Amino acid sequence: MAVDPPKKVVVCGGGVIGVCTAYFLAKKGASVTLIEKSNIACAASGKAGGFLALDWCDGGPMEHLARTSFNLHRTLSEELNGPQSYGYRSLAALSLTVTEESKRSTSTSTSSSSSSALPSWVDGPAHGPKTIGTHETTAQVHPQLFTRTLIENAVEKYGVKIVIGKLERLEVEGGRVESVVLEGGNVVDVDAVVLALGPWSSKLELLSSRFRVSGLKAHSIVLEPKEPNAITPHALFLSYNAFDRRVPLDPEVYPRPTGKSKPLL
Ligand SMILES: Cc1cc2nc3c(=O)[nH]c(=O)nc-3n(C[C@H](O)[C@H](O)[C@H](O)COP(=O)(O)OP(=O)(O)OC[C@H]3O[C@@H](n4cnc5c(N)ncnc54)[C@H](O)[C@@H]3O)c2cc1C
Repeated sequence: MAVDPPKKVVVCGGGVIGVCTAYFLAKKGASVTLIEKSNIACAASGKAGGFLALDWCDGGPMEHLARTSFNLHRTLSEELNGPQSYGYRSLAALSLTVTEESKRSTSTSTSSSSSSALPSWVDGPAHGPKTIGTHETTAQVHPQLFTRTLIENAVEKYGVKIVIGKLERLEVEGGRVESVVLEGGNVVDVDAVVLALGPWSSKLELLSSRFRVSGLKAHSIVLEPKEPNAITPHALFLSYNAFDRRVPLDPEVYPRPTGKSKPLL
């Protein structure tokens, strides 16, 4: 009996979405090529907080997806040695309020941070900590290491091919995509295409004519503490009242197992 050759799938975009799609399609037997214009996890997927929550989408349209994703991360971590390979671990999440009184008092105050619920590494005028995630419901990965570990496994175990090149357009015939055309003219024949271009999706006419996709900018900085071992696994979600602003800021702080800490501003 003739066996069908595996489906040729081209996944465009080497962020976490494209890489995960390539990994699971190839694991299921598809012949997958991943096209990335720059580097794997070069964009948001390499800079994110890597925070995972089981039930924060409950009651909304994303509930099932969020819960499935959280549980899949746990399974993947067991398969791919997540704690060592990409810093997978459970952690607690706290919300708390920080109120600056003045530039001067902020730099010297350690006043109300003595609450026992606060991690010992939080100093300054922090108060009202509330637990919003526990070791059963919140976790984290190092997003760049996660994405790179997954693509390495996809290449080594399931034969995914990586092409560094920029998708320019799709050739569509009778409602079916026949091939993808890269900048410079390279053409790759396909049975199916997955577009995972993140905020660049709007640059592809085929998508922008059907959906409105736009990017959302967020800043992130990485801090290296003097005593890495003192930094416990607590993600912090702050309501930060700066003395010279009316509207609170809402930075988030994600400590990493390496001791590095990544606040999002
Ligand atoms: C600061 C920050 C913090 C975040 N924190 C979290 C968090 O804690 N938890 C969480 O779940 N999410 C978080 N997110 C969101 C998360 O990072 C994104 O949802 C996710 O990374 C999106 O992945 P993606 O693969 O869709 O897109 P991207 O990571 O943007 O990847 C798209 C890829 O497509 C490539 N590409 C674009 N155009 C082309 C082309 N024409 N041809 C070939 N390749 C192309 C790009 O080079 C890029 O590599 C955060 C985001 C930011 C910015």
